[in-house]
Amino acid sequence: MYDPKSSKAEEFICHEEILETLAFAESKKQDKEYIDSIITKAEQCKGLTHREALVLLDCELAEENERIFALAKRIKQEIYGNRIVMFAPLYLSNYCVNGCLYCPYHYKNKHIPRKKLTQEEIRAEVIALQDMGHKRLALEMGEDPVNNPIEYMLESIKTIYSIKHKNGAIRRVNVNIAATTVENYRKLKDAGIGTYILFQETYNKKEYERLHPTGPKHDYAWHTEAMDRAMDGGIDDVGCGVLYGLGTYRYDFVGQLMHAEHLEAAKGVGPHTISVPRIRPADDIDAKDFPDALSDDIFEKLVAVLRIAVPYTGIIISTRESRKARERVLAVGVSQISGGSRTSVGGYTTEERHDETAQFDISDTRTLDEVVNWLLKLGYIPSFCTACYREGRTGDRFMQLAKNGQIANCCLPNALMTLKEYLEDYAATETQTLGEDVIRKEVENIKSEKVRSIAKEYLKELHDGKRDFRF
Ligand code: SAM
Ligand code: SF4
Repeated sequence: MYDPKSSKAEEFICHEEILETLAFAESKKQDKEYIDSIITKAEQCKGLTHREALVLLDCELAEENERIFALAKRIKQEIYGNRIVMFAPLYLSNYCVNGCLYCPYHYKNKHIPRKKLTQEEIRAEVIALQDMGHKRLALEMGEDPVNNPIEYMLESIKTIYSIKHKNGAIRRVNVNIAATTVENYRKLKDAGIGTYILFQETYNKKEYERLHPTGPKHDYAWHTEAMDRAMDGGIDDVGCGVLYGLGTYRYDFVGQLMHAEHLEAAKGVGPHTISVPRIRPADDIDAKDFPDALSDDIFEKLVAVLRIAVPYTGIIISTRESRKARERVLAVGVSQISGGSRTSVGGYTTEERHDETAQFDISDTRTLDEVVNWLLKLGYIPSFCTACYREGRTGDRFMQLAKNGQIANCCLPNALMTLKEYLEDYAATETQTLGEDVIRKEVENIKSEKVRSIAKEYLKELHDGKRDFRF
């Protein structure tokens, strides 16, 4: 039976409820009156249930679909403004004991070289990332208790936070590792991680078990209940995701929203972010073996409906997607993107783009500066901000003004300051000119006079090389 408060995976991700939802949405996809009522409800920015959301995703009425896209854009604008948060993945090790059918790091792959970075190599990778301008990382590694124990991850996090190179610093380390124990989550929390990220891959238990035939990841309940354990270990920010293309998107979309409903009901807070990766070709992985791959059109609609269904959850897109696909989903909901990424172990310090330890082929191979330049031209504000009101790490003077209207008073100025830092320290000349122009206009648009004047003061201090505050 469906019970969002239950701690059991098969009760909060209830197969029967998903099947009923699929049939319900199928029967309503042309029901104008009902669809209009859902859109009207969604306009209040309070989110939707998994059933309502799937009806919108399935909706076949042209006029209603236009309203759905327009509403997604409006919600995105109201909640996130033009800011797009930037990050990069950092692969620490590709040793893995699991047998995932879609990932070349699976243990049976004997011709892929296995590599695990030493702390010295991590330093070199982090310096390369800092020299690009990154401040926020997502650490990635395979599951292997012998080669990649939790102590290795903890030591690596410590190393990363300690590296101060020129004006660079990694200010937020997010971690994407296999499901683990409450005790280990507590250790990650104590190490100062930002978000704990774990993709569900697929919510369909049968498919999940087929795709993960061996290894600890085979256990559907252990994997699906991981976010609960992470929160029990004190981690407040968790990041979910489906690997689209593994299962059918309608099933997984509903599962994803049920997972968010469960975390909200059982833990009082939903996921901080939702990632929307799509399957990519890789070493011994042929994307053709996955017939459920999502078309670009459905992908765009899925992101738009997600934006409407969970308005306050960040949506993340990686360099798995092409520039064009990224452009489409940025407009309707995505709030965080990676740039200049390498998906191989040691990829930031090796010359070859696609070295042989890569987890998958990336589509968007542009440099970070090219991505920043492109975002600016599209009217976005690339943000390197890592502050967060909840964590009390907001630029201190803004912090006092943040109580009401957090985004207008706090996130936007913080985004502008971190963009300014990027422009001063790392940007190519053309990007710098473009960015300075954007900052000038945006600062003048800040409504509160007090905030505007603090922003100007900060900008001047940054320009003069003073950096005794953190964003
Ligand atoms: N090993 C950990 C795990 O599996 O949870 C975390 C890191 S794994 C390096 C990150 C994610 O990459 C996986 O969760 C999976 O969704 C994704 N991935 C694996 N193979 C992929 C492929 N061929 N194309 C796109 N994404 C892939
Ligand atoms: Fe290992 Fe993760 Fe790849 Fe599965 S997806 S083989 S667990 S690295």
